[in-house]
Amino acid sequence: MRESRSAQRGGSPSEDHPIVTTLEQGLREAGVHSLLVQFADVHGTAKGKLVPLAHLDDVLQMGAGFSGPSIWGTGLSRTGPRSEYYARGDAATIRCLPWMPGVARIVGDGFVGGEPFESCPRQVLRRACARLAERGWTLRTGIEPEFFLLKRVGDRWLPADDADRLDRPSYDLKSLSRQTGFLRELHQALEAAGLDVLQLDHEDAHGQYEVNFAYDEALHSADHLMLFKLAAHELAQARGMVFSMMPKPFANQPGSGMHMHVSLWSGSTCLFDPGPAAGPENLSLLGRQFIAGVMAHAPALCALAAPTVNSYKRLTVGESLSGTTWAPAYVAHGPNNRTALVRTLPGRFEWRLPDASANPYLATAALIAAGLDGIERGLDPGHARTEDLFEWPLARIRAEGIGVLPGSLSEALDALASDRVVGQALGPSLWAEFLQLKRQEWTTYARHVSAWELDRYAAAF
Ligand code: GLU
Ligand code: MG
Repeated sequence: MRESRSAQRGGSPSEDHPIVTTLEQGLREAGVHSLLVQFADVHGTAKGKLVPLAHLDDVLQMGAGFSGPSIWGTGLSRTGPRSEYYARGDAATIRCLPWMPGVARIVGDGFVGGEPFESCPRQVLRRACARLAERGWTLRTGIEPEFFLLKRVGDRWLPADDADRLDRPSYDLKSLSRQTGFLRELHQALEAAGLDVLQLDHEDAHGQYEVNFAYDEALHSADHLMLFKLAAHELAQARGMVFSMMPKPFANQPGSGMHMHVSLWSGSTCLFDPGPAAGPENLSLLGRQFIAGVMAHAPALCALAAPTVNSYKRLTVGESLSGTTWAPAYVAHGPNNRTALVRTLPGRFEWRLPDASANPYLATAALIAAGLDGIERGLDPGHARTEDLFEWPLARIRAEGIGVLPGSLSEALDALASDRVVGQALGPSLWAEFLQLKRQEWTTYARHVSAWELDRYAAAF
């Protein structure tokens, strides 16, 4: 329990902060009684608490307080001045949550000891954006979450919709219509919370869907993704389903990506726009240098964009009921080429690496660091690939000098450990903390004896 700032001052918020009072009045008139002060932990999981609206001032000035070491990835101690983590509300993010009447969500930035907390994922992304701002640039991202709607039957996880069985279920309208109720509620909830929803469709695996909303500045897009996750979890649960951002729930079907469409801007000028003399690459020189950085740092970026043991079961070519995994495995770029890590489009590129388990703040911050490194070193991404790289045998991929992504979380962590550009974007504490947490995750997995191993080896020798 902590004393509120307004109580400490002994005065009412209105005496000091007329803007806050106006904001509070507006929210009260809109029927809001509580704020959901929300932040993301290192795993990209939404955390927070409810704060009565009367304490809006506290949330904006000091932040809602949390026990720091109870939050994954903070590395904060149990005692002392740096044990308390404050999620300080960003007033620009306040939105009513239609699925929680009377509650408005406000996104918090992490603060410790009165200073921005270096390991808060949103602060990490703020730092990365500030590096761009020094040059007068902003990065815009369009994040495309794919996800599953599942149910648990005994110890099995299955698509929630039993009738969703096509071998190639992409864009299947019959399956889509069976989930119209959920998708419509999700669409309405996101729109009511301020997102511009562009498309909702059935993806290429049983029980898999994708929702797209409009691109925005990188920090806002990451906030939107968190809002999307909050809404989807709530609405699926209300219908007895499990909303899943697990990258690859079914071995024989495609997994869930969280592709990012990326463009760099100076005011209203797109710096990736190739101009009238566009070559086949779709990007300006700056854009080509940026993607070259993203490709050069691809192994370390994997640790943040594909951060789970399960992520590496998605990043493979081949075996899939639908014929294609559509997930990248090769470090290449090409115009509208979905078989490459980087798919270029006029004036932007789609970064196909991230999966649905990625923390959007950390993945974007790492992307910016890699892209800036490409620009600072004037890197060249090599020539554009127009071929279907999924058709090529590995020997040809290697012979062409195309890099292959790490095959496991363990390999990706080794790459992150030795990549100073990406590591420094996280900051020294989070870099170390992330590696430690994720190595523990890998070790736990590596020590687990699975049913596959028993079936294969128990009676084999
Ligand atoms: N589900 C695929 C992935 O894991 C992507 C499918 C698509 O291109 O939309 O990346
Ligand atoms: Mg998709």
